[in-house]
Amino acid sequence: MRFGLTLPLLLVLVLLASPRSQASDLALVGGTIYLSPSEPPIERGTVVVHGGHILSVGPIAEIKVPQGATAIDCKGLVVTAGFWNSHVHILLPGLLHAEKLSSDQIASQLQQMLTSWGFTTVFDIASVLRNTNLIRHRIGTGEVKGPRILTVGEPFWVRTPIYVKGFLEANHISITEVESTAQAKERVRQEVRDGADGIKIFANSVESNEILTMPLNMAQAIAAEAHSAHKPVFAHVSNDRGIELAIQSGVDIMAHTTPFDGLWSPSFVQRMVAAHMALTPTLTLWDVESRKGNASVGDIEKGMSRAAEQLGAFSRAGGQVLFGTDVGYIPQFDTSEEFAWMSRAGMSFQEILASLTTNPATRFGYAGKSGRIAKGLDADLVVLSADPAQATSAFSKIRYTIRGGDVIYAEK
Ligand SMILES: [Zn+2]
Repeated sequence: MRFGLTLPLLLVLVLLASPRSQASDLALVGGTIYLSPSEPPIERGTVVVHGGHILSVGPIAEIKVPQGATAIDCKGLVVTAGFWNSHVHILLPGLLHAEKLSSDQIASQLQQMLTSWGFTTVFDIASVLRNTNLIRHRIGTGEVKGPRILTVGEPFWVRTPIYVKGFLEANHISITEVESTAQAKERVRQEVRDGADGIKIFANSVESNEILTMPLNMAQAIAAEAHSAHKPVFAHVSNDRGIELAIQSGVDIMAHTTPFDGLWSPSFVQRMVAAHMALTPTLTLWDVESRKGNASVGDIEKGMSRAAEQLGAFSRAGGQVLFGTDVGYIPQFDTSEEFAWMSRAGMSFQEILASLTTNPATRFGYAGKSGRIAKGLDADLVVLSADPAQATSAFSKIRYTIRGGDVIYAEK
């Protein structure tokens, strides 16, 4: 560098060289810390965040808060790794046509739907890829505060399901039907080139008078094409035939239980688990849909119990559960009903915490960055105002959501 640069110019150069929107150091002090679902909690601990990553974590007496760090008093609060919701849709009218939305509008919608419920990462499993890419680009530049969004873009179906037709038309969205295996394979390659992180098939499409099942060779070809690009495959299922198709095509994640069909026999559950399929339960969805269809209280209870029994059987058999609610398709953002039903299905709070953190991080290849509180991992954290070990409703009592060391939601 030549001599003679003035001090102000030097300062400008230094500022330009430092990364933009780098969150300052942060310390969460004095809370109960769940490092992971399988470790005992640190009763009074401190987490220090530097440069977007976890710098240190341990008992309050052993961890020094760096000078200049923003300290958040977490006495009486609980700290866990940031939550994942592995079944959402970036499809709400408040997120569509993002080119016309201000950053405040997008941030506010993402906050209402996701970050105020503790989600630092979500998997969008059907939306408009171009639009979802636009939203995550604006989050990536720091213009909008929001979660990490993974997406499958447009789903693959042989016929548009009856319950989304009206919505798609009203919002001027067209998603083509799959006509041939060759066309489907080309579309998989195109979506992957366009940035999709996974592929979603409709193993079943619910129509007015029937439930269609995708032809096996087509599902197998789509899954093989996705896997050759190292992308996970999700399957919407509505009945046993859909689950059977998912097993036989190498699907990775089943995107629902099937309460409108029969209970799952132990041998059927064994086959799902042996196929290494994960499950997003979406129990709340069934309640919302049944109410929409004016079902009786008794019928709703019966359907919900069946869904919970299916989840319980899957979980007890060692199946990997990924927390997922179908929010964005359903307008119910509040997660407390889902946690209540997961508890009724027999899942412990550690198992529910795993479904929110370590299970999805492992499943989607993020275990080295996300899912636990440990030195070096991304500073994706949730601060709860109650302890989920006492009651799982605590998982929906969010005080702060922190992504990459940046507070993206604070309860008012
Ligand atoms: Zn869905």
